[in-house]
Amino acid sequence: MSTVTVIKGIGVGRGVAAARVRLMAPPLSEPTQERFAGDAEAELARVVAAQRRLSADLLARAERAGAEAHEVLTALSSMAVDPAITAAVEARIGAGRTGERAAYEAFHEFAETLAALGGYFGERAGDLKDLAQRIVADLRGVPAPGIPDSHEPFVLVSDDLAPADTATLDLALVKALVTREGGPTSHTAILARSVGLPAIVAIGDAERLDEGVRVLVDAASGTVTVEPRDEAIKSAMERERTRLEATRSLAPGALADGTPVQLLANIGAASQSAPAAALGAEGVGLFRTEFLFLDSTMMPSVDEQVRAYSEALAPFAGRKVVVRALDAGSDKPLPYLTDQGEENPALGRRGLRALLAHPEVLDAQLEALARAQAASDADLWVMAPMVADAAETEQFTDRAHARGLRTAGVMAEVPSIALMAEQVVAAADFVSIGTNDLTQYTMAADRLLGSVASYQDPWHPAVLRLIERLGEASAAAGKPLGVCGEAAADPDLAVVLVGLGVTSLSMSAAGLADVRAELALNTLEQARSKAAAALTARTAMAARNAVRTAY
Ligand code: PEP
Ligand code: MG
Repeated sequence: MSTVTVIKGIGVGRGVAAARVRLMAPPLSEPTQERFAGDAEAELARVVAAQRRLSADLLARAERAGAEAHEVLTALSSMAVDPAITAAVEARIGAGRTGERAAYEAFHEFAETLAALGGYFGERAGDLKDLAQRIVADLRGVPAPGIPDSHEPFVLVSDDLAPADTATLDLALVKALVTREGGPTSHTAILARSVGLPAIVAIGDAERLDEGVRVLVDAASGTVTVEPRDEAIKSAMERERTRLEATRSLAPGALADGTPVQLLANIGAASQSAPAAALGAEGVGLFRTEFLFLDSTMMPSVDEQVRAYSEALAPFAGRKVVVRALDAGSDKPLPYLTDQGEENPALGRRGLRALLAHPEVLDAQLEALARAQAASDADLWVMAPMVADAAETEQFTDRAHARGLRTAGVMAEVPSIALMAEQVVAAADFVSIGTNDLTQYTMAADRLLGSVASYQDPWHPAVLRLIERLGEASAAAGKPLGVCGEAAADPDLAVVLVGLGVTSLSMSAAGLADVRAELALNTLEQARSKAAAALTARTAMAARNAVRTAY
C-alpha cells in the first residue's frame, strides 16, 4: 500500500479544503535587447498569433465573469489585439527586435500613455503590462505569471502573495492558500484570516506540491496531505461541517466553564461597524481612525469627525466601542503631523508622540469623540497608540478625562510599557495590547520587512512574558486588558492570551467565529496551563507546538 505524504507548515485559521494544486508561476525575466536576425514576417506572425490567443482567452473569461469584470475583460480582450499596438510591434521587429522584446516594448509604451492620462485609463496601465507578460509567456511556452486562470476550484501554492496578487483572487475558486514563505502575520495570513480562507504558510517541503496533484489542506493541524485517501477527505469534510455549524453561533465569547471573554471587532472605517455587529461582535475593540486623516491632505474638521464616530457607535447601543486616537507616523505617515526624513520612523515621533507634539490635533479629536459620546447610547472608550510609560499614560488619560471622556486607556505596543505595567495600569482605565507593534519592538524586526518576517511572531515567549506582566498587573488592579493585534485572531493563541489574563479579544470580524469556537473548548484552568507551557518554550514555534499538543 502506498504511503501518503504529509507536509507541515504554520496553519492559519481552522478550515479544511480539498482540491487540486495550481502553482503560481514566478515573474518572467524582461526580454533581452539582443538583435533579431531571423525572418521578421514569421516573427511578427508568432506575436500576432499569441495576441489572438490571449484576446480569445480574455473574451472567454469575460463570458464567465460578473458584470463589472465582464466589462474590464472585454476591454482588455480588444486591447490585446489593438491594431496600433500590433503596428508598433511590427515596427520594432523591423528595427531588429525579437518578437518578445517588440511586444514587451509596444505594450509598455501604450501603458505609459494610459498612465499619463490618469483616472480610469491610468488604472488600466497595469493591465496592459500584465498583457505584455502573458504574451511573452506564451511566446516562451511557459505559464503566465501571477494567479493561474482556472475554471475549477484549486489550492493556490506560491512563494508568498503580494497585496496586488490577493486583489485578483477569485474566492469562488480558491479553496486554500499554501505558501513556502511568510509567517503568521504575513500578508497572506492576514488576507486568509480576513476572508476566512484556510491557509498554510512557511511550508517546508513545497517541492512535492506539483501542479495538478490532489491535496487536503488542514489549517488546524497546519498540514497539507498529498494525494490523500478518499476516507481521509470524507472525515475531514465531516469535521469541517461540524466546525461550520459551531461557528454559526453568535453567542457572546466564553470559555467552557462560562468565564466570559469579550469578542470585539477591529474596524478601519465607520461603515464597517454594522457588518461587524451582524457577525456577532460584542462591540468594537479597535477603531483605527487613521482613514479619516490619511484620505485627506488637510485635517478633517471636528464636525466631520463627529459624523464618522457617531456612525461607528450607532450599531452598538449599550456596548463598548474603543476608538484609538490617531496613530500617525512610521507605516502611516501624515504630512501635516509627522516629521519627514526620520531615518527610522518606527522609532521616531509616531503615535502619541506625534499627537503630543501637535496638541491641537489631539484636542480636536478628543472634542469630536466627546460630542459623539454625548449623542450616543454606546459606551465610548478612547485609547492612545505608542505609549512608553505611566507618565505618558497619564498625559493622555488626564487630557481625555478633562474633555469629559469617561474611559481612557492606552495601547501596549512598546516593551517599556509592559515592563512598567503596575504603574501604567494604575494610570489608565484599561490597557489594550497591540501585538503587531509589541512583537515588532520586542523582537527588533520591522513588521513591513519580509526578510525578518519569521521574527514577527507573537507566539515568541519573549512577547508572551511581556503580556503575562500586563495580565498580572491588570488582574491585581481589577482593570480590563484587551488584545487588538493580529494575535487575537489566532484561535490557539487566543486561548493562551486568556490564560495570561486577557479579558477581551478584538480582531477583524471574519475571525470571530473560529476564536469563539476554540474558547468554548477550554476551561480557564486549561487556558492557564497552555499559557504556562508557551511561556517556558524556547522559540515561537516551540510555544505553538507545546500548546497544540497540550491536549
Ligand atoms: C498593533 O500594533 O497590534 C495594532 C493593533 O495597531 P496597528 O496594527 O494599527 O499598528
Ligand atoms: Mg500598532
